[in-house]
Amino acid sequence: MTDSKRKDTRLVHGGRRKEWTFGIVNPPVFHASTVLFDTVAELKAAASKRDESLYYGRRGTPTTFALADALTEISGGAGTVLYPSGLAALTGAILAFVEAGDHILVTDSVYDPTRAFCDQMLRRYGVETTYYDPLIGGGIADLIRPNTRLVLVEAPGSLTMEVQDIPAIAAAAHDAGALVFMDNTWATPLFFDAFAHGVDVSILALTKYVVGHADAMMGAATANQKALNRLRQGAGFLGNCPAPDDVYLALRGLRTLSVRLRQHEASALQIAKWIAERPEVDHVRHPALPTCPGHEVWKRDFTGSSGLFSFVPKNGTERAVTAFLEGMEHFKMGFSWGGYESLALGYFSVDKARTATPWTAGPLIRLHIGLEDPEDLKEDLDRAFARYRAAL
Ligand SMILES: *Cc1c(COP(=O)(O)O)cnc(C)c1O
Repeated sequence: MTDSKRKDTRLVHGGRRKEWTFGIVNPPVFHASTVLFDTVAELKAAASKRDESLYYGRRGTPTTFALADALTEISGGAGTVLYPSGLAALTGAILAFVEAGDHILVTDSVYDPTRAFCDQMLRRYGVETTYYDPLIGGGIADLIRPNTRLVLVEAPGSLTMEVQDIPAIAAAAHDAGALVFMDNTWATPLFFDAFAHGVDVSILALTKYVVGHADAMMGAATANQKALNRLRQGAGFLGNCPAPDDVYLALRGLRTLSVRLRQHEASALQIAKWIAERPEVDHVRHPALPTCPGHEVWKRDFTGSSGLFSFVPKNGTERAVTAFLEGMEHFKMGFSWGGYESLALGYFSVDKARTATPWTAGPLIRLHIGLEDPEDLKEDLDRAFARYRAAL
């Protein structure tokens, strides 16, 4: 598709302004707090555009501007704010927009730490959260109140992988004057064009595919013109800023995002289809497979799939899932994903992370398919399924 080709080119060119790189391919890593000014007039001029040029280290350096600009160019937004982690991007973006007495709508399939922030911290500040069925679509209109400030979507959802009808949700939200925030970490801007589907603020855990090598934490929120000033203002109040060496790693990772993502996609699809045929498996939740809730929406709105998916094993007991997970050669156990390496995690109480929609399917296994040879990964999984059967 010409569209993806254009995105690939943008990945190579994004943020590479000569005034920041001095003609070198990559920008230098600026370690900076103080920026020096010769005149009062220069200092005042810098203050008036402190989110886009040199003012003070916390507000950005050529290294951070290069990454933020590249992300803006790739996603088609109006501007990007960087944060020291993906979670900080989610919480920082939400805090920039809500106030006491507000109400927000959050998908029941949301990343669990985001839920904890809403239930515990936002509640303390007088902001109420209602969780909604991720498959609600335009039905979200019935849940919107006069004080609903924003609707948070995440597609596919963490762990359970439901794909949401974002255009339908955005239409209802915008009709009522609410904004749409999206956690777009799974698809990245390469496989889901958030702004073309009605999102106002698109949030990425850069820690995952953009950094891509499991060696730095970072987040970003990209806003459209309507939301950008408020987003930047909130970030200015909170004062989070990522460290320069990490920003450099994220920028370096970004340049190869497309080729890595396509390999994650191909290997994950191959393995998801292989798992779907296994007698030990009830169903696979991979957005590109028809057994995933919201698959039709994925086909309509997304241009690819990444390396993370989950499956529900048959008769899943904690003992059998534990036997599956322990003794792997290639799939390691640990949080995060999006690096070059394969990961596996078991989730034994998905039902407890839900309040709007019941989860009755039992334990779930989530895999991240890395860049190893998929045949080696299948052999590893074959042995895991044998351990699973033996432990039933
Ligand atoms: C990992 C993750 C985050 C948080 O990112 P961190 O950099 O670990 O804080 C947010 N959303 C989703 C969907 C994630 O998987």
